[in-house]
Amino acid sequence: MSNGILYVVATPIGNLDDLSARARQILASVQLIAAEDTRHSGKLLQLIGCHTPMLSLHEHNEQHRTVELLNRLQSGMDVALISDAGTPLISDPGYGLVSELIQHGIRVVPIPGACAAIAALSVSGLSTARFAFEGFLVAKSGKRRERLRELLHEPRTLVFYEAPHRCQETLADMLAVFGDNRRAAVCRELTKLHETSYYGTLGELAQRAANDADMSRGEIVLVVEGAPALETAATSIQAEQLLFTLLEELPASQAAKLAARICGANRAELYELAVKHKAGKQ
Ligand code: SAM
Repeated sequence: MSNGILYVVATPIGNLDDLSARARQILASVQLIAAEDTRHSGKLLQLIGCHTPMLSLHEHNEQHRTVELLNRLQSGMDVALISDAGTPLISDPGYGLVSELIQHGIRVVPIPGACAAIAALSVSGLSTARFAFEGFLVAKSGKRRERLRELLHEPRTLVFYEAPHRCQETLADMLAVFGDNRRAAVCRELTKLHETSYYGTLGELAQRAANDADMSRGEIVLVVEGAPALETAATSIQAEQLLFTLLEELPASQAAKLAARICGANRAELYELAVKHKAGKQ
């Protein structure tokens, strides 16, 4: 008997019409649907007239369900994985299951569709050439600022999920860490009735969030412009790493000159760093 297939099926993030025809067909044809919350997904399945049996798979039972689903797939059963909204595994359960199944040679097939991060990025007006998805920041402000500081020199566009009641605080922390000039977008309730995207600098958006309660209502994605490449190059990890490697063979002035030329960074800043690095090694 050949193994079954696991289909990773994206469901809507608000507008039901975003469920693809292929997703409907797969949900109706598999023998089992593993859902993050069977009651929540039951409503969607009822609306589309799908009667496939469901099984819960959430962060608290994923390990044990993985063994169970592996057995079923190995006995030839086809299974669909869905989450409450959007693409499973994207800030949702399923990573443990998918990685384990792949190790056991089970075929895993994506049925792509809505994803709030990608939808927000596509209307953010910010560079989409390279982006970093950060998911949810931690709830505590101290730890949140710590993570934001780690991202200070990240040149890619940053995409965050945020709970509505933390939107204002998070924007204030971003303003404190990234400064007020970076452009950003707050995209709320995408594909739903009250869909609104707010655009501006972090300074403008933080101020607006403090005065406009609507901005923090519903589901929210924050998209923030990455660090300006040249301005931060002198302190960027890339320039630093190159500098430290060159310092193993060259004097500080020459190493700084070369690293600055290669990375387009500030020579004086790199020289200062090189001198400190050499002094630290003595
Ligand atoms: N797997 C989902 C996806 O593909 O987008 C994300 C699940 S995560 C648990 C839920 C978060 O996604 C929300 O807190 C919010 O940040 C974001 N989100 C989901 N639906 C959204 C929507 N319609 N508009 C804006 N953000 C949304």
